Amino acid sequence: MQTDNKKIIRRERKELKEKIQKETLKRLYHKSEEEKATAIASRFNLPYIDLSMVPIGAETVNSIPEEDALRANLAVVHKVGRKFQIAVVDPGNYETKKMLEKLKKEDGVNYSLVVVSMDGLRRAWSNYNFETVVEVFENQEMSLKKEDLTEFEKGINNIIELKKRISEIHTTEIFNIIIAGAIKTKSSDVHIEPELDHIRLRYRIDGVLQDITNLPKKAHRTILSRVKMLSKMKLNVNDAPQDGHFDINLENTTINVRSSVLPSNFGESIVLRILCESSIKIQLDELGFNQYYLERVEEQISKPTGMILTTGPTGSGKTTTLYSFVHRLNQPSIKIITLENPIEYRIDGVSQTEVGKKGGLTFIDGLKAIVRQDPDIIMVGEVRDPETAEIAIQAALTGHMVLSTLHTNDAAGAIPRLLHLKVDKHLIAPAINAIIAQRLIRKLCEHCKEEYVPAQETVQKIKSVLAKIPKGDGIEIPDEIKVLHRSKGCSKCNFIGYSGRIGIFEIFTMTPGVEKVILGNISSSGILEAARQDGMISMQEDGVLKALSGLTSLEEIIRVTGKIF
Ligand SMILES: [Zn+2]
Repeated sequence: MQTDNKKIIRRERKELKEKIQKETLKRLYHKSEEEKATAIASRFNLPYIDLSMVPIGAETVNSIPEEDALRANLAVVHKVGRKFQIAVVDPGNYETKKMLEKLKKEDGVNYSLVVVSMDGLRRAWSNYNFETVVEVFENQEMSLKKEDLTEFEKGINNIIELKKRISEIHTTEIFNIIIAGAIKTKSSDVHIEPELDHIRLRYRIDGVLQDITNLPKKAHRTILSRVKMLSKMKLNVNDAPQDGHFDINLENTTINVRSSVLPSNFGESIVLRILCESSIKIQLDELGFNQYYLERVEEQISKPTGMILTTGPTGSGKTTTLYSFVHRLNQPSIKIITLENPIEYRIDGVSQTEVGKKGGLTFIDGLKAIVRQDPDIIMVGEVRDPETAEIAIQAALTGHMVLSTLHTNDAAGAIPRLLHLKVDKHLIAPAINAIIAQRLIRKLCEHCKEEYVPAQETVQKIKSVLAKIPKGDGIEIPDEIKVLHRSKGCSKCNFIGYSGRIGIFEIFTMTPGVEKVILGNISSSGILEAARQDGMISMQEDGVLKALSGLTSLEEIIRVTGKIF
């Protein structure tokens, strides 16, 4: 009897256990993918990560062959030497465990595990798709009219086909394909880098270098001589850097290409910068200022005198911002003079002077000369030495509007930088109207972006970031975070998932609070604090708000501005 009772109890327990499991599964099923992953993580006592927010390089993912990763449902998401961080969907899965065992025993890999959603894992795997970037050519027919560009258009429809045939193609055509592809993908730079047994071809698209293909080594010499001939470089010199430029005439426009060659281990590497006028002719309201900042900027540039500085590293869009101010202020009754190095684009109605050329005008001489030309607005490429700083500050204090850039990481850092350039601290607040720091972020492709439901853990982290944002008119801080955005990649965005860029900003003006700090004990942190109290939103916060609005992904904000959480 007793044994029977025990049996019944055991069976009941078993049934109850199964019932609970079923219900748990059912509950989980209704939660988001990401939420499920957090549940699995806590069951196995492992950390969870949202891979939509972690930039992963192709090199990292490729530490494990694609078929192994797919079979075992895992991906390497971070690595230092033989130490891997491996993302898994189900740590209890047989194939997963088998692969981890193999990595440890046979390959000597030291690993730690994180749990991710299946969506997340698929995103990590997409890095295996090296070829897809190249498919851009498949979906976009080449329609460059001039020279031989039409010729090659007839023969080749995509670069995969091209890769097969490239050995038969005349190098003139390879070069045209490279250029045509760069223009089609709106690349800003083309990198042609000789390596031991091939040439690596990369394009910079929206600020990020993308591998396009490898070219046969033998094509190098002919591509190089074509670049040198077009750019009027010395053909016989191969042991010194050279630079030049050439134009490509297209149907409606001329594209200026700045070329540079540099000796390297395996031959001269070539970089071509494609200057496209439309990218710099951006209207003020297209730069990406949020409403709050746009109003501040409008107010500052409508002042007749004073200085506005944009700051950021090279490629952060600070010059484009200044150009948009010049475009806005450009009218017949106002005299605008610019001092540039080099002049990239001509603006009607603006006197542009080039400085810094060998044997030409220096920055300082140029600046001294233009101040005497009675301008209303002066744009100086960069404040880089004490003398330029002094003249620019004097000009701002004596009835001119001065626009310039500074090379600092953030807005608050501009003040210590000016002091370092020997600017008198008493002149800073009277001379400067606004300091604008910025970065460029890529926008999610409109054609393939999708919503997803983040884990509660992620939502809480985002909310803690939002809580710190200064409140201001025109700042919309969402109360609820129901979805985030990411993209899959499609033919419209060259399978990158992003298309086009926009700025993220932090701006501060010379409020009494900021001025007090400048005159007192100056430190970046003190200035930052004062600026924050006066409502300065940081670049990262501006970025997070843009991500929450669906314009970009949090991953992109982290890539550009660093860790958020
Ligand atoms: Zn797309």
